[in-house]
Amino acid sequence: MHTPLLIIGGGLSGLAAALRFARFIPDVLLLEQHSRIGGLNSYYYRNNRLFETGLHAITNYAAAKEKNAPLNRLLRQLKIKRKELDLHQQNQSEIRFIDQQSLLFSNDFSLLESEIADKFPASSSGFRTLLDLINSYDPFKPQSFISARELIQQHLKDSLLTDMLLCPLMYYGSSIENDMDLGQFVIMFRAIFQEGMFRPGGTIKDLLDLLLSHYKKHGGQIKTRAAVSRILHDGKKAHGVLLASGEEISCDYMLSTIGSEETFTLLGKPSGMEQLPRLGFVETIFELSPETILPQGHDRTIIFYNAAETFSYQQPDELFDVKSGVICMPQNFQNLPSSPFKEVRTTHLASYRLWKELERDSDSYRIAKENTARSSLPLAEKILGNFAQNIVYRDTFTPLTIERFTGKMNGAIYGNPVKIKDGDIGYDNLFLAGTDQGFLGIIGSMLSGVSIINQHILPRL
Ligand SMILES: Cc1cc2nc3c(=O)[nH]c(=O)nc-3n(C[C@H](O)[C@H](O)[C@H](O)COP(=O)(O)OP(=O)(O)OC[C@H]3O[C@@H](n4cnc5c(N)ncnc54)[C@H](O)[C@@H]3O)c2cc1C
Repeated sequence: MHTPLLIIGGGLSGLAAALRFARFIPDVLLLEQHSRIGGLNSYYYRNNRLFETGLHAITNYAAAKEKNAPLNRLLRQLKIKRKELDLHQQNQSEIRFIDQQSLLFSNDFSLLESEIADKFPASSSGFRTLLDLINSYDPFKPQSFISARELIQQHLKDSLLTDMLLCPLMYYGSSIENDMDLGQFVIMFRAIFQEGMFRPGGTIKDLLDLLLSHYKKHGGQIKTRAAVSRILHDGKKAHGVLLASGEEISCDYMLSTIGSEETFTLLGKPSGMEQLPRLGFVETIFELSPETILPQGHDRTIIFYNAAETFSYQQPDELFDVKSGVICMPQNFQNLPSSPFKEVRTTHLASYRLWKELERDSDSYRIAKENTARSSLPLAEKILGNFAQNIVYRDTFTPLTIERFTGKMNGAIYGNPVKIKDGDIGYDNLFLAGTDQGFLGIIGSMLSGVSIINQHILPRL
């Protein structure tokens, strides 16, 4: 079999890239190792209902009139109408440093500005200067690493406020410990604080079905249960792939969305970057009975919290670290069609290495998962009030779950700490898109797929 373009990975970057290309040339083949598409952003069925994975809130909200905003550019590139997505904006989110300070934010940036002016008056003018810098900075210009933490601290002169601003941006998109590259910080600041968060009215399955139906309408092909076990190449050009089933597929161009090190491994030339520390996470979904009303913070969409004296974003020395984390209530978006389900989701940093040690002992692994859920409850209840009595079902994922279902090395959601921003991995016709190209999150990964097609593949045809 031969195809002009072969895309490895049916996550959101692969799907968006495939759809973008199919709009011009229908001969594109998308290969996904699983029976279901979506990758990190997918779904599964338990307890007679659909559970979403990887969707708390989509960043980069933009009103229809903001023509150049990333969301609207993406929809134009994919020829998807806004009304097909049925967008619902977040209610209000919060950064809560327990016993220290709290900041509210929403899709109206002036809320965060006024919170900072009220609660950190001495940093107010520094924050305005920092904003000028953020607004004028080009995060896509190739640059060596600049510490965002040092720069923010220089402007704000308040380490608590520095940590509070970094906390959501790190949890939603930093692949490095305790700091961010300035470019990544600017991208995430704009995506979360200045643009804001939303979700579609339907489930992630509806969104994936929509993308797939557009793709198939253009004539694009997809093969699921098609794990690539080797990329066939001569050191300069990729000629095709060998699937785990033994089938060979040749191609003119190839796009890999599975991660940089994962791609080098398929090429038979690991770069050694697998030794760099990669951040793992655990998440527990608590399904609550429909009549539950959370005693506090019941209208918040996301709460990013820290309960330690100083905020630390790093691989813990234990299986997981509940001292900081994300609490998400996915039903709390404006005018969301009412759902009979209520959820609280808690996410924390985790150690892949320690979870891996439990892999062979299924009882210890199960008990550790139960401990994760149990341990994250006290802080969640401290913030939201008691809800344990309303839990009707719960499920926990670990870095091993991520590794098993998406092939991400060490189960690291945000991938390799070193990003390859131009998608060029040293081959004439093989490029990288997705998480390790440097765009993160749902809109980011889709834009990554689209931009690599626009930049590297369409101009050569
Ligand atoms: C718990 C969690 C919460 C998140 N919350 C949010 C959020 O609230 N908002 C947000 O915007 N983003 C969120 N994200 C991040 C978002 O899901 C990801 O950034 C995005 O989905 C990455 O897409 P991708 O296509 O780059 O990678 P992936 O989703 O990893 O896609 C890669 C695909 O390649 C496939 N693959 C791997 N190896 C092979 C192979 N050898 N052969 C064939 N196929 C292969 C995998 O199965 C997978 O489907 C979250 C993620 C997680 C896990």
